[in-house]
Amino acid sequence: MTSRDVLISGAGLAGPALAHQLHRYGFRPTVVERAPALRDGGYKVDIRGAAADVLKRMGLYQAARSADTGMRHVTYVRRDGRQIAKLDADLLMGRRGDDLEVMRTDLTRILYDATAADVEYVFGDAIATMTDGPDGIDVTFTSGATRRFALVVGADGVHSATRRLAMGEVPLRYLGAHIAIFDVPNELGLDREEIFYTEPGRMVFAYSTGGAAPAKVGLVFGADEPVLGREVLADRFAGLGWQVPRFLDLLRGTDDVYFDALNQVELPRYSAGRVVMLGDAAHCPSPAAGQGTSMALVGAYLLAGELAAAAGDHRAAFDRYEARLRPYVDRNLAFGVKMAGDMVPGGRLSLAVRNYGMRTLKYHPLKRQIIERVTRPLHDAANAIELPSYPMAPVA
Ligand SMILES: Cc1cc2nc3c(=O)[nH]c(=O)nc-3n(C[C@H](O)[C@H](O)[C@H](O)COP(=O)(O)OP(=O)(O)OC[C@H]3O[C@@H](n4cnc5c(N)ncnc54)[C@H](O)[C@@H]3O)c2cc1C
Repeated sequence: MTSRDVLISGAGLAGPALAHQLHRYGFRPTVVERAPALRDGGYKVDIRGAAADVLKRMGLYQAARSADTGMRHVTYVRRDGRQIAKLDADLLMGRRGDDLEVMRTDLTRILYDATAADVEYVFGDAIATMTDGPDGIDVTFTSGATRRFALVVGADGVHSATRRLAMGEVPLRYLGAHIAIFDVPNELGLDREEIFYTEPGRMVFAYSTGGAAPAKVGLVFGADEPVLGREVLADRFAGLGWQVPRFLDLLRGTDDVYFDALNQVELPRYSAGRVVMLGDAAHCPSPAAGQGTSMALVGAYLLAGELAAAAGDHRAAFDRYEARLRPYVDRNLAFGVKMAGDMVPGGRLSLAVRNYGMRTLKYHPLKRQIIERVTRPLHDAANAIELPSYPMAPVA
């Protein structure tokens, strides 16, 4: 073992992004992923502001750009399916300049392909125990293997097991809603478009990137307390209009459903000893923020750069990583709280006001400026960091 051997738990987005940069700085990363293979599926994710710069510095921006979803518009509909408003997708989702939207699975694949030849990936295994010592950290895996590393990075998502092992149980901040996402056949013929339908306390969306891609359906509902299983969905969405009865029928026939509470992770400190948290494991902003991917990329850039610059002093690197990242994270977490509240309007009045605003907006001569003003907080949060240049910055 040398001070350059780093174990990364999780081959999602943050893990491979870090491995890519660490390798280029001369580290020897190993990525352990609990799933038996790279996880496919998932939803679309945004790469905004500073994160687009990170991809450029990693030399992967063009690859991500070629995978852009090219979503064209977003339509809001009523209970009977009639249109309330149809708006430009990039404008409404706050994407500007070089911002991108890609399917999560495409970005994972791009990051994996860029690292697979140089980085050791271990699939179907996970960290079971970690013992932090003066010369390294001894790790046992659930497979029974044991190895020593200089550092361990927890990039294993919002419910991170690495975080639990290193820091104990950290309470998640529940944002008052749940989300379910699943694939359905594209019976609506959606072609790079998304449809939203909202009732008090509930929001339904469906989108497809077109071609042979299935449609993704999302069901979001408010609840005072976190609920445990997806069984509640049929009940919560009973009696709704638009395509919801058909979606519920399709839901009954599928096991592959992403279902979770909208939660945030707020850590008082991102590291403990030789273990440091990255991506959602450190600061999940909840899917409502639409910023988790960007935050994971920015965090990976900072952590790799600080580890390289600190020349073996991991404590100094962790301190600087935290100091640089935290103000940007705080801004995005605050944005996520606000968005979670807006996703499921509580009452009929607030919904009616919103729908009226949408309806009149489409005729408004200053439509673009108005939407830009509304999405400004997202744009600002996405750019709320100046990326440092590191001495051994990866070639762009
Ligand atoms: C429904 C939904 C919609 C979203 N929409 C957007 C969006 O529009 N824009 C956006 O920017 N972000 C969005 N996000 C957030 C985004 O997906 C995450 O913020 C991002 O994936 C974080 O990357 P990560 O690598 O930190 O974690 P993850 O992508 O969760 O990856 C964690 C990896 O760790 C693995 N793992 C878990 N436990 C272990 C273990 N014990 N040992 C080893 N491996 C383990 C997992 O299998 C996974 O591969 C959305 C998230 C969800 C759930």
